[in-house]
Amino acid sequence: PLVLGIETSCDETGVGIVRGHTLLADAVASSVDEHARFGGVVPEVASRAHLEAMVPTIERACETAGITLHDVDAVAVTNGPGLAGALLVGVAAAKALALGLGKPIYGVNHLASHVAVDQLEHGPLPEPCVAMLVSGGHSSLLRVTDVTGQDGGVDPMGQTIDDAAGEAFDKVARLLGLPFPGGPHIDRSAREGSTVAIDFPRGLTSRRDLERHRFDFSFSGLKTAVARWVEAKERAGEPVPVADVAASFQEAVCDVLVRKALDAASSEGIEDLLIGGGVAANSRLRHLAEERAEKLGIRVRVPRPGLCTDNGAMVAALGAEMVARGRTPSSLDLPADSSLPVTEVLAV
Ligand code: ATP
Ligand code: MG
Ligand code: FE
Repeated sequence: PLVLGIETSCDETGVGIVRGHTLLADAVASSVDEHARFGGVVPEVASRAHLEAMVPTIERACETAGITLHDVDAVAVTNGPGLAGALLVGVAAAKALALGLGKPIYGVNHLASHVAVDQLEHGPLPEPCVAMLVSGGHSSLLRVTDVTGQDGGVDPMGQTIDDAAGEAFDKVARLLGLPFPGGPHIDRSAREGSTVAIDFPRGLTSRRDLERHRFDFSFSGLKTAVARWVEAKERAGEPVPVADVAASFQEAVCDVLVRKALDAASSEGIEDLLIGGGVAANSRLRHLAEERAEKLGIRVRVPRPGLCTDNGAMVAALGAEMVARGRTPSSLDLPADSSLPVTEVLAV
């Protein structure tokens, strides 16, 4: 089936078109430049930008895919979690399309889409697998037996107890005077630095913490440690070695993420680890995961960086899976839910 997916949960207006596991178009318009001077995404600005970009982005996707809207068999849309106003724009557009075309609509979970997108690159998802979702707003380990969420198919094993991994990247980048969003800038800067220059803390890895938080993450202590370290340098009147701080910080984040993800897979006897979300674009995370997983006989799948950050193709991919597995479409009055839990993959 030909599925068109719409994504507007944050600052990317994404429209993707897939046929089964084949990606036909992935049009993304980002309002990131409009938010950069505020150092973070401004919800009202994002909603307005979605409104302006929606129709042109749909047109661009159709053009790239070489289809007309009448060829579409189903419409999928992110109905949460995310910014309420931003989600509403996408949901309203998807409803209008579905109604106008007389085609079914699937309201799908943004977080599960970050996992499902991998099938566009590597084929059918390995189920069961452990999925590590690391993005701007979330960091979780999920046991995935059915990515459409049926019968508890997406089951949280652990999550961050404070900041998300991407949030930590963005905050540390800001401390270092790097532009927003900081993840890609830290990634790049870190290549010139040493991973062992500074010994930053690995959150929730002490024996005591592991008893209660074996698969949980914590990044706020790390962020504070980086801030203290940078402040001390500045107070001493010494230059801040940005690349070394970036590399050592990034190592601390990636070390914990990979350690816990592999532990989660091993503990379940699961041989496939899937990594998704914006932080999965990080080159060190990808390298470390592959290197350590190989020693344990665990396979790692990470989509290419362009599919890790928000896009419409991921929504279309999950929508296509809903169709393929015969799930009941959502109702035309499906709600947008800014705090949708990861377990609710398909809106009723
Ligand atoms: P969520 O998916 O939780 O709703 P989001 O949609 O805002 O949040 P994504 O678009 O999935 O988040 O990811 C954006 C985050 O990914 C930002 O925090 C950004 O800094 C981070 N990021 C992007 N590229 C990289 C990279 N190469 N290294 C580290 N972090 C990165
Ligand atoms: Mg974004
Ligand atoms: Fe996202």
